[in-house]
Amino acid sequence: MPYDYDLFVIGGGSAGVRCARIAAGHGARVAVAEERFWGGTCVNVGCVPKKIMVNAAEYGAWIEDAAAFGWDVRKGPHHWEKLAAARDAEVQRLSALYRSLLENAGCTVFECRAAFLDPHTLQVGESRVTAERIVIATGGRPTRPDIPGAELGLISDDVFTMHARPRRIAIVGSGYIAVEFAGIYHGLGAEVDLVYRADLPLRGFDHDLRAALRDAYDAQGIRLHPGQQPAALERRGRALVLRTRRGDEIEADCVLFATGRAPNTRGLGLEAAGVACTEEGAVIVDEDHATTRPHIFAIGDVTDKLNLTPMATAAGHALADTLFGNAPRRVSYRNVPTAVFSAPPIATVGMTEADAAAQGPCDIYLTRFAPMRHTISRRPRRTLMKLVVCQRSRKVLGAHMLGEDAPEIMQGIGIAVGMGATKEDFDRTIGIHPTAAEEFVTLR
Ligand code: FAD
Ligand code: NDP
Repeated sequence: MPYDYDLFVIGGGSAGVRCARIAAGHGARVAVAEERFWGGTCVNVGCVPKKIMVNAAEYGAWIEDAAAFGWDVRKGPHHWEKLAAARDAEVQRLSALYRSLLENAGCTVFECRAAFLDPHTLQVGESRVTAERIVIATGGRPTRPDIPGAELGLISDDVFTMHARPRRIAIVGSGYIAVEFAGIYHGLGAEVDLVYRADLPLRGFDHDLRAALRDAYDAQGIRLHPGQQPAALERRGRALVLRTRRGDEIEADCVLFATGRAPNTRGLGLEAAGVACTEEGAVIVDEDHATTRPHIFAIGDVTDKLNLTPMATAAGHALADTLFGNAPRRVSYRNVPTAVFSAPPIATVGMTEADAAAQGPCDIYLTRFAPMRHTISRRPRRTLMKLVVCQRSRKVLGAHMLGEDAPEIMQGIGIAVGMGATKEDFDRTIGIHPTAAEEFVTLR
């Protein structure tokens, strides 16, 4: 039976756009449907606008630090609307670019919702469309905790439509999004309460990094509320009050729930297609991103794999090469470098000390120091660097850093760890002086 398309991609985010345009480049007849915004979460309500706001927050501290280096600059007020306008213009530019990349590659684009009618047929807006292969790349969405008054709180998408900076903000959660926005709002001058249920922020990261971030945020005056679960949110006059299960009350102008994301699979007609999901609604896939239907695939945040843009694009690219490029390959989810754009930022690759120790004896190399810039500025910022090394093979199993430029530094360290470099390989490497990065090759 002839199909309308060789490949139909549902979702025009990082994963879907990469997969569609590479497949089209291999000669496939490709169509893509996007119901909200080209470029998806990363471009519109994720990495890109977030990083612009991280940059904005950093400038505030740099202006203060400049005086110690002889500059006669004074920190004036921050104009939220100027930042928002610059950020939104860049987002629109990139979103339009994503759409044009698809068109230039020869893909047919639909600006509407798509859902399965049967394993090869989709309802795409008003049309019915068939495809030999279908890729689900519908991403995820922010969730709110199930508590009374939850609808009064914001989710991360709302940050990007705020008209002014709140004076006081309470942020619930301590994952990537919570700690990043805590740093952003604090840097832009808001009072910040960070409310989380664990004893330290960033569950899953190395213990020393988590403790160092706790100390850094505490020292900056971000009010930390560990071991606290939200119980209810209510309006009191012009303020919002977040009640915790322990009975504490935290008052703020707005409350941001950064309590995780859920895959976008509701209403997709997956039952009609015979595609199975986990209990949490993520599409179940094998190592080749095939679902329980061999001609239907899922990539990116809609699966329960690492929810990071470079993983989504890598999976989309590999899938397109495999299906249409005569170059079958898989992506590895091991040793994926990642960064948290907190203030200061965190970056990491490989195993935590705890995970490595569970596999066998390891040696730990750790340093904490005041970065050179801050020996002059006197800003109380500390950098932490840590290597986790297998005692038997001497391989570096994990590298962890909290400190300025950590994400930029960790990208290169990620190559070394991925290649199986040993501690002695690190030691043999000549440092670049004077940098923070050189500490990674001089750790004793
Ligand atoms: P998405 O980008 O979410 O794309 C899915 C698309 O599908 C969406 O555009 C959606 O509108 C569309 N869609 C859904 N259902 C349908 C349908 N039925 N029909 C048509 N279209 C549909 N990752 C990093 O690596 N670095 C970062 O710094 C970073 N920062 C982040 C900050 C925030 C605030 C958030 C929320 C996320 C961040 N991420 C970051 C994660 C990153 O954004 C995601 O991992 C990535 O965008 C996932 O891409 P995706 O293509 O799987 O999904
Ligand atoms: P995370 O999964 O990272 O963190 C969720 C947080 O919410 C955790 O602190 C969790 O607590 C807490 N939580 C979950 N449910 C509840 C609840 N019912 N009550 C109270 N607290 C709760 O999710 P995020 O939303 O921060 O980010 C989603 C994903 O997006 C990230 O995991 C990451 O993959 C990606 N992302 C990547 C970024 C980057 O690369 N820089 C930036 C932003 C997002 P606990 O720890 O106790 O479970």
